[in-house]
Amino acid sequence: MPVTTREWQLAARPHGEPTPDDFRLVETERPDPGDGQVVVRMLVMSVDPYMRGRMNAGKSYAPRWELDEPMRGGAVGRVVVSRSPAVPEGALVLADAAWRDVAVLDAAHVRVLPELPGIPPSYHLGVLGMPGLTAWTGLFRLAEFRAGDTVFVSGAAGAVGSLVGQFSRLNGAAAVIGSAGTPEKVRWLTEELGFSAAFDYHDGPVADLLAAAAPEGIDVFFDNVGGEHLEAAIGAFKEHGRAALCGAISAYNAVEPPPGPRNMFLVVGKRLSLRGFIVSDHGDLQGEFVEKVSGFLQSGELVVRETVREGLENAVPAFLDLLRGANTGKMVVRLGDS
Ligand code: NAP
Repeated sequence: MPVTTREWQLAARPHGEPTPDDFRLVETERPDPGDGQVVVRMLVMSVDPYMRGRMNAGKSYAPRWELDEPMRGGAVGRVVVSRSPAVPEGALVLADAAWRDVAVLDAAHVRVLPELPGIPPSYHLGVLGMPGLTAWTGLFRLAEFRAGDTVFVSGAAGAVGSLVGQFSRLNGAAAVIGSAGTPEKVRWLTEELGFSAAFDYHDGPVADLLAAAAPEGIDVFFDNVGGEHLEAAIGAFKEHGRAALCGAISAYNAVEPPPGPRNMFLVVGKRLSLRGFIVSDHGDLQGEFVEKVSGFLQSGELVVRETVREGLENAVPAFLDLLRGANTGKMVVRLGDS
């Protein structure tokens, strides 16, 4: 008797903002696992801004999703059948998997996760996973953060941004300033995460809001948003300022290339360094990152928040809402109990 599973497929490539019609939830037959394969019941899956680029026909840094094929991304699940000696039944695993509730995967392509007390599986998609490593890499390797720096982070209430601000504070920043899209997020940054100042970027020109929050200028900018935020940061930099360019979500749905910062020449006069990066090039930092961040979690110094949606059928709404800013902290979709 065939076993069925549900999966999300890409139905159309969007022009501008994606809509529910660009996706399709279908039932498919689950194949039996072959030698060297495992069957994984998914517990939680990730929706991430970079997936917007995977919907396009053109080149992005992650492989594009193909039409009428399942969409893929990070997910954590439990092995329910194993035909590999390397991955035991019952193991908690991280995989790049199709958006499915049950998946048959090559054991060589899953990573067995440690079962740590007090660490829910979803943390491996957020604070201890790709977004956490992104925050760590951009701040310490690319922006060369040092104690005493004044740091500005855009998209500060999101998965990456909320960690950048806290890593800065925990490592001796003189001040940490964040921008976000709602008054509630701004309050969360200053009242719960320990940011020195924060503003809602809808409240006026970002350059003015940043100048008011950091009157003496900034040393480090961690950019998740691009556009007006980048121009404002270039204006606010002190000499020898350093930016880690992580993302530009303000332009992900743009149908025409957005204009660049009008003040680029300040990069020369201020001797600025603006460095783009992709986290997957920096896997060598994984060990140091997990050790330090696990320590912060155990000591209770790091505040972690997630926005959790329930059920595979809500994966696409969660992704569309993420792009519109419905999340505080990491957006994840819960597919089952451990
Ligand atoms: P996230 O910040 O948790 O979620 C996305 C957030 O973007 C939303 O909550 C929304 O918050 C904000 N946003 C949406 N449209 C915006 C706009 N027009 N202007 C300003 N903000 C807007 O997502 P994340 O996973 O932490 O990713 C943050 C950034 O890092 C993204 O740009 C992503 O592509 C990038 N990233 C890069 C790498 C890399 O290797 N370089 C790896 C991971 C992530 P508001 O309510 O504040 O608007």
